[in-house]
Amino acid sequence: MTHYTLAIMSNNAGKLAEIRAYFSDYSLNVVPYTDLFDNVIEVVEDGVTFEENAIKKAQACPSLPNTVYLADDSGLEVEALNGEPGVYSARYAGPNPTTETLCNKILSELSGQTNRRARFCSTIAIRYPDGIIDVVKGIVNGTIITHMVGTQGFGYDPIFTPDGFDLTFAQMDETAKNAISHRGRALALAKQHLNTFLNPPCQNA
Ligand code: IMP
Repeated sequence: MTHYTLAIMSNNAGKLAEIRAYFSDYSLNVVPYTDLFDNVIEVVEDGVTFEENAIKKAQACPSLPNTVYLADDSGLEVEALNGEPGVYSARYAGPNPTTETLCNKILSELSGQTNRRARFCSTIAIRYPDGIIDVVKGIVNGTIITHMVGTQGFGYDPIFTPDGFDLTFAQMDETAKNAISHRGRALALAKQHLNTFLNPPCQNA
């Protein structure tokens, strides 16, 4: 039976940790793409949708035998900011963003604003060895609180409380966050596609 590698196309340590935690008991050899290639690949994320950017990232590496690539493009959409920062989430606070600069930028934009509704979106592209790509999506709705709380996670996690919880994402470990997050939801759908790829239905069933 072929043993496949699942290469994660991300340079974001927080995302990588979540994706690896999600697949921790999975039958694939899950590695960051940097384990397979010497150089870091900086994909120009110039798409206007998460889907365009996710597909671009999934196609960034040359094909390798028995290797499936998985790429996530994600971001925060804030209702009172007309959906911003959206696909620009990583760059919203300028170059070399930190958790603090990203969260403080949103908090200052929402200063005095009563509508604090927001959602995280994740689009995942899976590229199989034959070049075929599957795309799946996940969303989680929630609220932007007024100050940073929690030390885990990354990006906007300390200011986002998912609906139904009194905790921010930065107060949850990777497993708890994956159970309800935009990325966890997209990963659940990605896993279904991967399972079908690994165990295709019988032709004459
Ligand atoms: P990209 O998908 O690499 O373009 O980066 C998405 C950016 O959106 C990240 O750098 C974070 O700033 C933000 N983001 C995406 N998902 C999350 C999340 O789960 N928590 C906090 N911030 C996130």
